[in-house]
Amino acid sequence: MVRAIMGSIEVNLQQVSARIRAACLAAGRDERSVTLMAVSKTFPPDAVRTAHAAGQVTFGENYVQEALAKMEALVDLRPRLAWHFIGPLQSNKTRPVAEAFDWVHGIDRLKIAQRLAEQRPAWLPPLQVCLQVNVSGEASKSGVAPADVPALARDVAALPPERLRLRGLMSIPEPADDPHTQRAPHRMLRELLDALNREGRDLDTLSMGMSADLEAAIAEGATIVRVGTAIFGSR
Ligand SMILES: *Cc1c(COP(=O)(O)O)cnc(C)c1O
Repeated sequence: MVRAIMGSIEVNLQQVSARIRAACLAAGRDERSVTLMAVSKTFPPDAVRTAHAAGQVTFGENYVQEALAKMEALVDLRPRLAWHFIGPLQSNKTRPVAEAFDWVHGIDRLKIAQRLAEQRPAWLPPLQVCLQVNVSGEASKSGVAPADVPALARDVAALPPERLRLRGLMSIPEPADDPHTQRAPHRMLRELLDALNREGRDLDTLSMGMSADLEAAIAEGATIVRVGTAIFGSR
């Protein structure tokens, strides 16, 4: 069973890469403008090892303790991997995240960003962060409301840039089946990013799109797609 899963990771990665390539072609975009993040939550270190051996560099994790244990088991690969924290982050868990990760995608209040900036070790490059936006309104509770994005972006961008750098926006829209419905929240996130940049921010990252909707996300400008199930199997 385990071997069957491991054996297919390489094939799955090729299939997801082909989907990304096709979506970029359809959108008239350079495929190098989209980074594939492999979401390895709930999968063992060996799944990450297998994906890395197939060329995968960027990995996403949701749960602090699980991620730290996995990183420990993969410490030999650390210089060659980029670890992104994509789960909800409570303020009492910021320190290990600030010390171990390269990116954090789920910033939805200033306090979390302030703590991450304070706790980021000086010998590491700045932590790269995205603000999580609630693009689905009432249906979802996590993320900052679209109307509050400009103020939070201004405050986070004012934190010490050698410790923490605001790169863009992230969202987890309500699941939808048809591509038209899938695109609407992705478009909203892109328009929010465009508005921030018009106001003088310098943001280059749209973290949006998962296994089921990465094509819709790329059509609307995603620069990082976060894919779990289509690479590692169902959880
Ligand atoms: C689990 C998760 C993903 C991956 O979702 P899949 O549907 O398995 O591709 C992406 N983003 C976030 C924030 C997640 O928690």
